[in-house]
Amino acid sequence: MRHDDTLLAALAAADDDRIVFDLSGIEERYASLLAELPGVAVRFALKACPVDEVLDCLARQGSGVDAASVQEIGQALRAGVPPERIHYGNTIKSDPDIAEAYRLGIRDFATDSLADVTAVAEHAPGARVFCRLATDGGGALWGLSRKFGCSPEDAVAVLERARDAGLEPAGLSVHVGSQQMTAGAWRRAFEQLADLLDTLRGRGMALKYVDLGGGLPALGYLDERGEPLDPPLDKMFAVIREGMQMCRDAGGALDFIVEPGRYLVADHGAVRAHVVRLSLRHDADGEPRHWLYLSCGKFNGLYEMDALQYRLVFPGRHGGPSVPATVAGPTCDSDDAYPGGHRPVRVPASIASGDPVWVMSSGAYAVSYMTQGFNGFGPLPWTCVRKAEGGR
Ligand SMILES: *Cc1c(COP(=O)(O)O)cnc(C)c1O
Repeated sequence: MRHDDTLLAALAAADDDRIVFDLSGIEERYASLLAELPGVAVRFALKACPVDEVLDCLARQGSGVDAASVQEIGQALRAGVPPERIHYGNTIKSDPDIAEAYRLGIRDFATDSLADVTAVAEHAPGARVFCRLATDGGGALWGLSRKFGCSPEDAVAVLERARDAGLEPAGLSVHVGSQQMTAGAWRRAFEQLADLLDTLRGRGMALKYVDLGGGLPALGYLDERGEPLDPPLDKMFAVIREGMQMCRDAGGALDFIVEPGRYLVADHGAVRAHVVRLSLRHDADGEPRHWLYLSCGKFNGLYEMDALQYRLVFPGRHGGPSVPATVAGPTCDSDDAYPGGHRPVRVPASIASGDPVWVMSSGAYAVSYMTQGFNGFGPLPWTCVRKAEGGR
């Protein structure tokens, strides 16, 4: 895919390590999501990029927020997102968390157990609850299946408990897994949702919402051979549109919510790092292997680098001989490297310590997952740019 000129210009202008976000690109991605899924309400999953400028730009487009904690709720409120557009989407929350969210004006809560829904009834009386269904997580880079969501049978019990405790059983929610690569996973989720909506209607509970969660993919990652991953996005959107109709057929008039994180920000953020060293060593089995050590890695901006491969750009080093190298970050942790099974990356043989390297499509889960300075490598600063201004 073609990266935005604005982003490339900002990367070229950076003379130190940083993350650059292109706000115009994020706005364009938001608009294309609404064009694909007309009428759907968007609640940006703040954890994917808790940067005030990004939050502000999405809020101005009309986006709400999927918050995972009282702290994220606070950040969203400070950015001017109205409380009715903020969803407490974490099924894991203490009594004080629930009470504080309620005090801050939050009325939408995700839940997946009798214990949690009982606590919501006590500390957020009259609130609306969304029961999260478990999905299998198949086809996703991060399944999110084991820790969250309940069975359809549990969901009936949880929503009945909600109703009996004076809460509003407002909706069902799912998450098909982050960086979901298959349309089939969406289809399976919708079959489950439609089935359950039908059951609930039979029991006198007509819900108002289905929250489809996150999971929509970034487009710019590479596969284990270094080729574009190329997720079947058009097909996914077609399956989602069909699935929404299926749910309406089963459950009556419903409104839909999506909670994209990665999809909105990944491709419109990039890390400007530099080369620490290109070196050649022999493995324990005697095989020669080049390593490209970058100044940024798993603990300072590229948290997911051991699970996926980013496209690297070596500015000003076009043509000339190249060597296959394993890419790794600067720390003493062996997880701070590209995944073991991946083919080495072609690196210009002439590259030198200090040369800039751009790590493309690295805008999701970058800022939120940086350590305070593992091995002394502190968190990266960030810069936000827009098309009209041409950078700052
Ligand atoms: C993480 C998360 C999201 C965002 O997931 P992406 O895969 O980044 O789109 C949305 N909703 C909930 C409840 C989450 O936990």
